[in-house]
Amino acid sequence: MTNRPATAKVVRVNDNCGLGKINPIDHERATGILAIHRSCDPPCPRKAAAQAWLDKQEKR
Ligand SMILES: [Zn+2]
Repeated sequence: MTNRPATAKVVRVNDNCGLGKINPIDHERATGILAIHRSCDPPCPRKAAAQAWLDKQEKR
């Protein structure tokens, strides 16, 4: 998890970065998670999981 200084305007992250398991997951949720965790760098487990899920969908 990243704790950012309050200098930047930060959207409240009401989602657990450390939770790599997203269930249930659908396209809307996956993209939403990507948006919420956009500032997580390097990508947190949750962001990575959402990205991996989207990649899998596109490959079908
Ligand atoms: Zn995150």
